[in-house]
Amino acid sequence: MVESKLIEYLSELVAINSVNPNLSDQGQGEKEIAEYIHSHFKKLGFDSHIFEVAKDRCNTTSFIAGKKSSMVLLMNGHIDTVGIEDMDSPFILRQDGDRLYGRGAYDMLAGCAIQMCLADFFAVNENPISLVFTFVCDEEDKSIGMDHLVSHFLPTLPTRPFLGIFMEPTEDQIGICHKGYAWYQLKISGVAAHGSRPEEGVNAIFPLQYALSKLDEINTRLSTEEAHPLLGHATLHPGIIQGGSAYSVIAADAILTWERRTLPSENPKKIQQEVEQVVAAVSDAPGNHEVSVTQLFNRPPNQTREDEHIKRFSNIVKDKSYKGMSYWADSALAAKADIPSILFGPSGHGAHAVDEWVSKSSMIYCYNSLKDLILSY
Ligand SMILES: [Zn+2]
Repeated sequence: MVESKLIEYLSELVAINSVNPNLSDQGQGEKEIAEYIHSHFKKLGFDSHIFEVAKDRCNTTSFIAGKKSSMVLLMNGHIDTVGIEDMDSPFILRQDGDRLYGRGAYDMLAGCAIQMCLADFFAVNENPISLVFTFVCDEEDKSIGMDHLVSHFLPTLPTRPFLGIFMEPTEDQIGICHKGYAWYQLKISGVAAHGSRPEEGVNAIFPLQYALSKLDEINTRLSTEEAHPLLGHATLHPGIIQGGSAYSVIAADAILTWERRTLPSENPKKIQQEVEQVVAAVSDAPGNHEVSVTQLFNRPPNQTREDEHIKRFSNIVKDKSYKGMSYWADSALAAKADIPSILFGPSGHGAHAVDEWVSKSSMIYCYNSLKDLILSY
């Protein structure tokens, strides 16, 4: 029965520590969980591979050729989770009514368990189209897994997938777009001096206020711009502030890092101008400090256009309204590789929180919807 299988796979996935090692000292990487999934596909008699993307960081993939058509459907889940700090028993799946508690249950090992159950079904039933099951590492940090999948695995497929379904939690709705993000780091350099003789130094912390007030001003402006119909407004926030060396020393350095969440409709030039405004505000501030800025990292937003396949899926699911996801997801990287990509996964609560749970009935619902989509071809 699919219900007991979904619970069994989810509890085994949760039981394996797959905390992203870049986010927490408790992380051991995704090798063990990738091997567990790989052995499941092997047992079913499917062609399955493990890719070691970096030391102990693994993807696993399985391809099943279609019986009626060579069209390829890509399914994807990330197998890393965020940290387990302050959780009582993060690796033991606990059931309370419809809720299944555990680290990664909702974001997004449930999606991985659903893929494993779909593989069970299509091991004994004909799959009309080709299916690619993919499980990637590191989505919660830099997505080295998805980058590797796009550059090393997807080109080996007989044809480019006509649709990618990323099984992130979407509360049973089709997620058709999501935001992107960029991280910026501003460095202010001054000169250290004795706290009693500020005139001998250059204070690097005071000018931070000009950066912060400019960021505040830009953020307020963003909130007044026309909202994206599904994603709302672009936002930004300061993430980390560092600076100074002692209470009694004029600070020689200050660093401010901020994050900008971007919309599909936004021009990168506009975002670059904002960065320049922040730098200008600091350079124009009183004092002889120096200022520089670096973009540390960025990931694009994704907006997928409705096509016949997405329409077909929306005819199958109960809630036909498309959803915009506030979070970033690996789907943006598949979309960049010309694979129209959507998100679809179960409902629950507590992604990245201590009380993470996924709804069991919703998992069953998502499994059935995906199975129906595949069988509809
Ligand atoms: Zn996720």
